[in-house]
Amino acid sequence: MPYTSREFLRRGQQHRGRYLRGPSPPRLKSPNIINKQVYGHETRRLAIQTLRHSIVVLETGMWAERTSHFSLSGIREMFALTKPGAINLGLGQPDFDTPTHIKEAAKEALDKGYTGYTPNKGFPELIDAIASYYEQYGVQAGQEQIICTSGGSEALHLAFEALINPGDEVILPDPGFVAYAPLTHVAGGVPVSARVSADDDFRLQPDTVADRITDKTKALVINSPANPTGAVQRHNEMREFVELADDHDFYIISDEVYDKMLYRGKHVSPASIDPDRVIVVNSVSKTYAMTGWRLGYAVAPAAIIEEMLKMHQYIQACAPSISQKAAYAALTGPQESVRSMVDEFFARRSAVMHHLKGIADCVTPEGAFYVFPRFATSDTSFDLTMRLAQAGVIVVPGSAFGRFGEGHVRISYAASQQSIDLAFQIIREQVSAR
Ligand code: PMP
Repeated sequence: MPYTSREFLRRGQQHRGRYLRGPSPPRLKSPNIINKQVYGHETRRLAIQTLRHSIVVLETGMWAERTSHFSLSGIREMFALTKPGAINLGLGQPDFDTPTHIKEAAKEALDKGYTGYTPNKGFPELIDAIASYYEQYGVQAGQEQIICTSGGSEALHLAFEALINPGDEVILPDPGFVAYAPLTHVAGGVPVSARVSADDDFRLQPDTVADRITDKTKALVINSPANPTGAVQRHNEMREFVELADDHDFYIISDEVYDKMLYRGKHVSPASIDPDRVIVVNSVSKTYAMTGWRLGYAVAPAAIIEEMLKMHQYIQACAPSISQKAAYAALTGPQESVRSMVDEFFARRSAVMHHLKGIADCVTPEGAFYVFPRFATSDTSFDLTMRLAQAGVIVVPGSAFGRFGEGHVRISYAASQQSIDLAFQIIREQVSAR
């Protein structure tokens, strides 16, 4: 039913109070605030449509409350609101094609008829390949400690579902990957944000975590290298996290999907320090430019994997068969493509840092393919990204990653050098125009 703008803002605020009990729910904006002149007609229309839809969902109570705790990721929102043809520095996936030998393995799997269900946990030879891959990080895992999933995303979901009881607290890096807080809510848990600060190069600090621990703490999420900041945790920090987990009896969910996108040192998995306390989540998505193949995995104590398997069996049955064969080729085949992709990201990171000089404060990221600068402007992150989108560059507002992300934007350099150079001409014009 059509509401006036004022009316659905009023209703929205009412419902926000009633239903959205999580910390700092996103503020509903009146579409009147979304200025037609600044953002364009289509943007305004989409914003109004989205708001109307949200109010109808809340009012009718048609669906479970579970998902009313959060909205679509700010990243997707951003894409929905931008005009076609803009340079996209918002992407969370490598701008490379899957290497040829991996694609060939998939074709061969098709020809050989691997088109049916696989064992629920995945093909045994893939599980062995994952175990060998993790040996490089000093983690020894047997078949019973590994499960293959539909992307790291499913592995994360299963980890939360296997660990969290209603009311349990989960400590999350803030800013941090957009899925952690919603997955905590879905599992009935309470997200507790642990600030990561530019003063510490965005590395999560053991003291910050210690301050957030209560007797309800059930898990801590660590993501190194990190999305959206590119921060890389040190070995001593990992050791302290594990000690805290041992002392206070909680688990660590270690999201390692960017393990190979590293520009300093060697990747540290906390599972190499204490495998009994850690659920590792990883996937072939970023490392082998395989985001669309949906193949991830978890490495964890056997008892936890068994719980994860129960859910996986009923919601997914198995990870895609052809993707499993492709992932096997990826993990066991030549690794040159990984090295050249990471070299290319390293070169682009230098270019991006050069472009940012004089227009933003920015910690030099040590991993992943993102920078997380703060521009000298009084705009909110959202307003700045909207302005940049209208000018032809897509980036993601820092506030999409948690309240401590406000003031920053995430820029992905998974785009060609030429696009990066062009985009920064526009960014420079926009931020110096204020
Ligand atoms: N963790 C982080 C930190 C990510 O950035 C992503 C993808 N953007 C994922 C997990 C999930 O990746 P996938 O499901 O493709 O493995």
